[in-house]
Amino acid sequence: MDRVAATTLRENDLRVTAQRLAVLEAVGAHPHATADEVADAVREKIGAVSRQAVYDALNSLIEKGLLRRIQPVGSPALYEDRVKDNHHHLICRICGRVDDVDCAVGEAPCLSAADDLGYEIDQADVAYWGRCPECQALGKKTTPLDPVPSRSGRRAANEAATKRATSTAVPQPSTL
Ligand SMILES: [Zn+2]
Ligand SMILES: [Zn+2]
Ligand SMILES: [Zn+2]
Repeated sequence: MDRVAATTLRENDLRVTAQRLAVLEAVGAHPHATADEVADAVREKIGAVSRQAVYDALNSLIEKGLLRRIQPVGSPALYEDRVKDNHHHLICRICGRVDDVDCAVGEAPCLSAADDLGYEIDQADVAYWGRCPECQALGKKTTPLDPVPSRSGRRAANEAATKRATSTAVPQPSTL
């Protein structure tokens, strides 16, 4: 495993370091892990490593396309080593579980805009939110305390939007 990882690093012009090897291995073993979870796994493997060193290793691996960072709304960044296939994620609103799901279209952007307004679009964020099978089986319902996404945050955002709309929406007399 380490030898394969070391070869992968060299092939991508990255110096082989214990941190990078441990980060690659940790993300491979725990797909969709947070940086903190990666750091814990790395420390278990090679001992004391600073948070910053783990972030540096993650970033250099992302830069070379060996890892991917996803950032679901209201969740910390998650890291995975399944790259270059434009897959998407199923995310449980209650427990935060994340699963891979193949892209229905196969390549980005997999959703065409109704009107691209002349933009050259290279990405559409597609995430499927809901209740995972376990949470359904346990009869868990979404509650205002759900960690992902923060419902209070969304409520605040909605209220702010409503306030903006009511304060700025001055009825315009029709001039036509
Ligand atoms: Zn769940
Ligand atoms: Zn994934
Ligand atoms: Zn897609």
